[in-house]
Amino acid sequence: MAIRNIRTEGDEILRKKCREITEMTPKLATLIDDMIETMYEANGVGLAGPQVGVLKRVVVIDVGDGPIVLINPVILETSGEQTGGEGCLSVPGKTATVTRPNYVKVKAFDRDMKEYTMEGIELLARAVCHECDHLDGILYVDKAESPVMDTDDYYEQHQDDNEE
Ligand code: ZN
Repeated sequence: MAIRNIRTEGDEILRKKCREITEMTPKLATLIDDMIETMYEANGVGLAGPQVGVLKRVVVIDVGDGPIVLINPVILETSGEQTGGEGCLSVPGKTATVTRPNYVKVKAFDRDMKEYTMEGIELLARAVCHECDHLDGILYVDKAESPVMDTDDYYEQHQDDNEE
């Protein structure tokens, strides 16, 4: 496994639409391992193909319950909403407010190319939506409802948000 270089905002690859994956190959399996390792190394909760320069519909997520691999993910259902701070490894050190569904149901293929469905709430729902957006060239800053600012400053200004 290897740590991959994470592309940052301004890199055109982050704005491109990714292609579907049709089969698992040794190269793709290595990419997935590398993405997981790169995500952990950067202390992220998710990483999508274009963030490591690969225009393929693959996402890895770990919100603390172990790594999830989503190949060709399709969001089938959403409900509710959550509004809160969101960041991205491709926009390092920054945070802004984004509203996302509080629940998602997603269909994807696992690393054996077996189709499965998964449900998530709260942070996992946010991560799924955020990472799926990456596959279509969308960054969270496009959806920000507050200025995109340094993470420390953001949480200093918003520390009371969840207390009422
Ligand atoms: Zn991101």
